Amino acid sequence: MKRVVAELIAIGSELLGPSKIDTNSLYITEKLNSIGIEVGFKTVVGDERQSLENAFKTAISRADIVISTGGLGPTEDDFTKEVVGELCNLELKLDKNILENLKERFKKRGISFPENSVKMAYIPEGGKPIPNGPGAAPGVFLECNKKTIALLPGVPREMRYMIDNFVINELEKKYKLPEKFTISINFASIPEAIIDNTLKELPFEENDIQYAILASLRKVQVNLSGFDRKRVEEFSNKVISKFPEAFFGYGNIFLENAVLDKLIEKGKTVAFAESCTGGWLGKLITDIPGSSKAFLGGVVSYSNDAKIEILKVPSETIERFGAVSPQTAFFMANNVRKLFKSDFGVGITGVAGPSQSEKKPAGLVFVSVCSKDKTVVKKYNLRGDRDMIRQQTTSRAFDLLRREFLK
Ligand code: ATP
Repeated sequence: MKRVVAELIAIGSELLGPSKIDTNSLYITEKLNSIGIEVGFKTVVGDERQSLENAFKTAISRADIVISTGGLGPTEDDFTKEVVGELCNLELKLDKNILENLKERFKKRGISFPENSVKMAYIPEGGKPIPNGPGAAPGVFLECNKKTIALLPGVPREMRYMIDNFVINELEKKYKLPEKFTISINFASIPEAIIDNTLKELPFEENDIQYAILASLRKVQVNLSGFDRKRVEEFSNKVISKFPEAFFGYGNIFLENAVLDKLIEKGKTVAFAESCTGGWLGKLITDIPGSSKAFLGGVVSYSNDAKIEILKVPSETIERFGAVSPQTAFFMANNVRKLFKSDFGVGITGVAGPSQSEKKPAGLVFVSVCSKDKTVVKKYNLRGDRDMIRQQTTSRAFDLLRREFLK
């Protein structure tokens, strides 16, 4: 199947500085992907005529569709239409309807019409103006060297309006693309490299399926997409069957979503005793509406006294093995379970760093998960800074609960 490739050009000198990023392209990419158009290139360019001309020239030469954002306003540094008009040999013509609408807009707000705003009513010959619901400057949709070009404003709200109400409809009509189907599958506690090596051996290309691996500290997500729904499903099952233990669910979810769903499905409850994660596990699960059906509560037992007095970890256990030990994690999990009368208890103790404590290295973490009849304790040597270690700990804890008790 012939691919339709788009290039996005984000225009604005502020986007080349250290404080502002191009987010327009993310929105546009999502919408294009939903109708089977892929983004092949992205360019960010400042408000400089020659650079803009070069950017459009390159984009028109290598992509089927070029969508720019920015430079449509009334000021001196807004010259996107002029540049594209020159490149495509299309003269800019005053559109009287647009001018009337602009004047009306200013009148309604009780502002006299600024002369430089006439500029916004000029459209390259043959181009269609794109109505701007929330703003003033219209966009432009045109053809140039058999390529489709859409010039949109930089203001995100206005850009989104034009994409949703005009651009996507026009592109769908023009390219008559079949719908692209995507499945996202999520894995935990498995390195990205292992998944990557396995995926490389599967015949994706021959089957017209694209895949992308999105790895973070909390999970590895694999997105599979293609035009043949059955085939995408078949490949998704193939990938899952390579790592059945690590697979925890479909879509844009995290471990806490999968764990909460399972707890609710099984009618079970859980409580957390957290030390180095400082309540992070509780925060993640209570971020999800409806978590009260399964999460009873937690104790942030950061000091030894809190572990001893609230969670009844025997003081001799802490004296003998340390607060960061499998024994302490064991008591934290079991005693928080008793305290809250929950079905499961989770106990977490570790060294988040950056310095070591109790002569134990940063990244050493013990997680214990228990039910009435069974307790598991696992040791982890995690790498990274304080935030990374704590984040990974939350995933390991949820994953241990999932693997050992919720299958
Ligand atoms: P217009 O075409 O409407 O004149 P412009 O780019 O000339 O747009 P600016 O004044 O530069 O207008 O930008 C308007 C607002 O939109 C600013 O807050 C700017 O940071 C934001 N913006 C512009 N381009 C982008 C982008 N690609 N991603 C996110 N925000 C953007």
